[in-house]
Amino acid sequence: MNAVHSDVLILGGGVVGLSCALALLRQGASVRVVDRGVPGCGASHGNCGTLTPSHAIPLTVPGMPWKALHWMLRRDAPLYVNPRPDWSRWHWLLGFARRCNWAFAQRAAIARAAILQRSWTLLPRILVEEGIDCEYAPTGNLYVYRDAHTLAEDRGEIEWLHRLGISAAAMDGTEVEAFEPALLPGVVGGILHADDAQLRPDRLVDGLARRVRERGGLIEPAAAIQDFHCIGQRVDRVLTSRGEFSGERVVMALGAWTPPIAARLDLKVPIQPGKGYSITMSRPDPCPRHALVLREPSVCVTAWDSGYRLGSTMEFSGYDERLNRTRLDALRRGARAYLRAPLGAELQEEWWGWRPMCVDEIPLIGPVRRWNNLLLATGHGMLGVSMSAATAELVASLVAGDKPVLDPAPYSPTRFANM
Ligand SMILES: Cc1cc2nc3c(=O)[nH]c(=O)nc-3n(C[C@H](O)[C@H](O)[C@H](O)COP(=O)(O)OP(=O)(O)OC[C@H]3O[C@@H](n4cnc5c(N)ncnc54)[C@H](O)[C@@H]3O)c2cc1C
Repeated sequence: MNAVHSDVLILGGGVVGLSCALALLRQGASVRVVDRGVPGCGASHGNCGTLTPSHAIPLTVPGMPWKALHWMLRRDAPLYVNPRPDWSRWHWLLGFARRCNWAFAQRAAIARAAILQRSWTLLPRILVEEGIDCEYAPTGNLYVYRDAHTLAEDRGEIEWLHRLGISAAAMDGTEVEAFEPALLPGVVGGILHADDAQLRPDRLVDGLARRVRERGGLIEPAAAIQDFHCIGQRVDRVLTSRGEFSGERVVMALGAWTPPIAARLDLKVPIQPGKGYSITMSRPDPCPRHALVLREPSVCVTAWDSGYRLGSTMEFSGYDERLNRTRLDALRRGARAYLRAPLGAELQEEWWGWRPMCVDEIPLIGPVRRWNNLLLATGHGMLGVSMSAATAELVASLVAGDKPVLDPAPYSPTRFANM
């Protein structure tokens, strides 16, 4: 059977795959996207939709392994690691723990800041040029603290963010309560990231998919990748539940599903699924004016004209598809402690998604050694929406052989031995 061919075949139709598709179409390539579901059905659907250069500092900081061990004992903690034996999870966790040192964290922060800031510049421009309405708003992101110790710890990062060129300003409790009247009294302080922005992520992926089609790209839904047919060092055909597809270049943008599929190509991709939850409701009254991070319970609050979302929590429990009610309840409980009206009247959706957590907290973007027509665009962890536009720009430059705006070296998958 002849495979259906295009210049670029993109595996995965999340925010990363669709952004890559659009960038490649804009430079004149023919593009096809295959997804086992509908576009945007993965982590890109129900996330918090914040665009956060403020998150440049990685999780790989000294002390994080101890915090994680402590949290392991509580099923409703912001970060939960399932203690059951699973070799790939524990191998990943050891690799992560090994990187929790200042030297590594500084390098990762520089790489993350560069791609976050480039995306922050590009994304609003692309939304206007492509006519995508996803409730984008540059409203900033306010971290709110009710515990002086946590605030003091985080204030230490302000200087670090400034060195990376990212805005962050400390506020006292009175200033925070005046700035965001939806908060309950008792706030000890805040950190305002004035340059952060927000959007409605499901509308972003809908808009990207629409523009991909309007520009002549093809999206193949319900096409689950099952295997590959390779010739020499080339991925010749991708075998899916809906037939065979091929591309001069193949971009793998499968998010948290990358490791099991890439293993079929002998690639050991150091990603674990980091499960997060969200609850979407109608807008409460009073509704927060800014995206918030309720810092102690680690709950993110995003409000759009069309709704209101509580989200976050991080759970390492492999590819477990169950919705854990304890963790959803932790979101509601966290919001109740900080907000005058923590919940909207109408529940619209309870959701979970897998973040593609790369062991070094830096996304994997670019070619691999083993296959000469395969590129990865994955491993964006907690920041796939925030990094999507610059990831797509980088992929498009690498495919075209142009000099990229971003230095591709820090993101190259070949920094890992088995890639
Ligand atoms: C609770 C939560 C809150 C978050 N908040 C934010 C935020 O505020 N800001 C931010 O920047 N990021 C946030 N994130 C992270 C962000 O959602 C992810 O980084 C991003 O969505 C990853 O996009 P992706 O395209 O790589 O993966 P996905 O969106 O998961 O896409 C992967 C696609 O691959 C497809 N696929 C899988 N297996 C196969 C197969 N065998 N065959 C074919 N297709 C397949 C899936 O169907 C899916 O559509 C959050 C995540 C969570 C869980």
